Amino acid sequence: MAYATTNPYTGEVLKTFDNATDADIDAAIAKAQAAFETWRDVTFEQRGTVLQKAADVLRENKRAYAETLTLEMGKLIGEAEAEVDLCIGMLQYYAANAAGELAPRFLPAKGFGDTDVVLVNEPLGVLYAVEPWNFPYYQVIRIGAPQFAAGNTIVLKHASNVPQSALKMEDLFRKAGAPDGLLVNIFAPHSATEKILADDRVRGVALTGSEGAGASVAAIASKNLKKSTLELGGADAFIVLSDAEIDKAVKWAVFGRHWNAGQVCCSSKRIIVVDDVYDEFVEKYRKGVAGLVAGDPMDDQTTLAPLSSRQAAEDLAKLVEKARAEGVTVEEIGESVPEEGAFFQPTILTDIPDGSDTSQVEFFGPVSQIYRAKDEDDAVRIANSSPFGLGGSVFSTDTDRARALARRLDTGMVYINQPTGVKADIPFGGVKRSGYGRELIDLGLHEFVNQKVVVRT
Ligand code: NAP
Repeated sequence: MAYATTNPYTGEVLKTFDNATDADIDAAIAKAQAAFETWRDVTFEQRGTVLQKAADVLRENKRAYAETLTLEMGKLIGEAEAEVDLCIGMLQYYAANAAGELAPRFLPAKGFGDTDVVLVNEPLGVLYAVEPWNFPYYQVIRIGAPQFAAGNTIVLKHASNVPQSALKMEDLFRKAGAPDGLLVNIFAPHSATEKILADDRVRGVALTGSEGAGASVAAIASKNLKKSTLELGGADAFIVLSDAEIDKAVKWAVFGRHWNAGQVCCSSKRIIVVDDVYDEFVEKYRKGVAGLVAGDPMDDQTTLAPLSSRQAAEDLAKLVEKARAEGVTVEEIGESVPEEGAFFQPTILTDIPDGSDTSQVEFFGPVSQIYRAKDEDDAVRIANSSPFGLGGSVFSTDTDRARALARRLDTGMVYINQPTGVKADIPFGGVKRSGYGRELIDLGLHEFVNQKVVVRT
C-alpha cells in the first residue's frame, strides 16, 4: 500500500507520496489537538461561517474539484460535479442547523423535587477518520461537516489511491478560514492505527470502508476504549413488485446498479423481481444495461466509467468466476468495454443458488445479481438473506403496500420507487455487517459529543 495517483482510464501513475512517519503522525495529532483547544469555544455561528465559506469555495471551483475526482478514481465528470454539489449541501446543512440540533435539552425530570436537569452537548476532541476512495470528497465532508460544527477536529487517513483529493479537502478548510489543524491529512500506513488510537488525545474513530478494515480498526478502538462508528459494505435489495411501473423500475435499476461504475456501498446490487413481472423486467433491464457507453470519464457522453483501478477489476473478475463455478448463469452485456484502463464488462448473474457464496458477497462494480421471487413474502426472504443491512428499495404503485414491506426489511434505509439515495439532509447508515452508527443530520452530530447532564437541585 503506497499513496499514489494512478489514472484509472489510462493506467498512468501520475504522482506518488511518502507514507507518514511516526513523527509526522505525532505532529498531526498535536496540530489537531491545538486546533481543538480553540475551536471548542468558537460559537456555532462562527463555525457555520467557516462551513459556509468552504461550500462557497467548492461552488466557485466546482469543475476543478470535480476533475481531481475523475483523474484519481475514474468517476464520470458529471457524477464528480454532483459529488461536489452534495458536499456543498452538507456543509450548508450544518452551517444552518447545528446550533438548533445541539441546543441544550431541558428534561422533564422530577428527580430531586425542585430540580432543573439539562443535557448539554460538548465536543469530544480529536477524531480519527478513515475513508474510502469511492466518494473521495463526500466521505470526508459527511464526517467532517457535522463534527466541525459540533466543535471536534479531525485527523484524516484517506484511501491510498486518492491522495490528491485528500490534500484538496485539507486545503479547502484552510481556504475557508478554519484554524490550522481543523482537518489534518496524513498518509498513514495501516500499521499506524495502533499508535493513533492509543493516543489519549484521539477520542474516537469513524471508518467507512470494507468489513475487513472495519473489523480491524474497531478492534483496536475497543482495545483502547474509544468509540467507533462503522459505515461498511452493502448488497442492497431492489425489489420490484407486480404492481410496479416496470419501465420506471428498469430505468432506476440501470442507474442504481451502474452509477459510479457500480462502486457504491448502497448500489442496487441484488435486484429481486416477483415472478409475474420477472421476464418483462429482465428483458428490458438487459437492453438498458446494453445501452451504457464505456469510455473517457472526462467526456460528458460517457455513461459507464472505469473502475477505480486494474486491481479492483481483477478482484471483481475473480468473484464472477467463483459465481460461475457455483453454477450461477453469467451473462456479459453490451459492446465490449475498452481493454485499456480499468473497465469491467457489465455482467448479469441469474440462477443464484440460495445460500451460495455469490448470494452473500458484495460485487463492487457493474455486476447485477437478479433473483426471481415467487411472491412478495419470498422477495422479503431473499432480501433479508444477505449478511449486509445497509439500504434497499421497493418498487410498487401502492405506497401503503411499499411502506409495509419497507418495515420488514432488515436494513438502515429503505427508499420507495428509487434506489437508495444520498442526500445532505437524510441520515445514512446500516445494520448487520453494514456497520453501526449513523451519519448526517442530528444523528451524525450526536455520535461524537459528550451528552453531559447538568443537574441543579
Ligand atoms: P477498504 O479497503 O476497507 O478501504 C477503506 C479505507 O480503510 C481506506 O482508507 C483504507 O486504506 C483503509 N484501510 C483498509 N484496511 C485497513 C486496515 N486494516 N487498517 C487501517 N485502515 C485500513 O475499502 P475499499 O474496498 O477500498 O472500499 C469499498 C468498501 O467500502 C465497500 O465494501 C463499500 O461498500 C464500502 N463503503 C461503505 C460506505 C458506507 O457509507 N456504508 C460508503 C462507501 C464505501 P488504504 O487505501 O490505504 O488501504
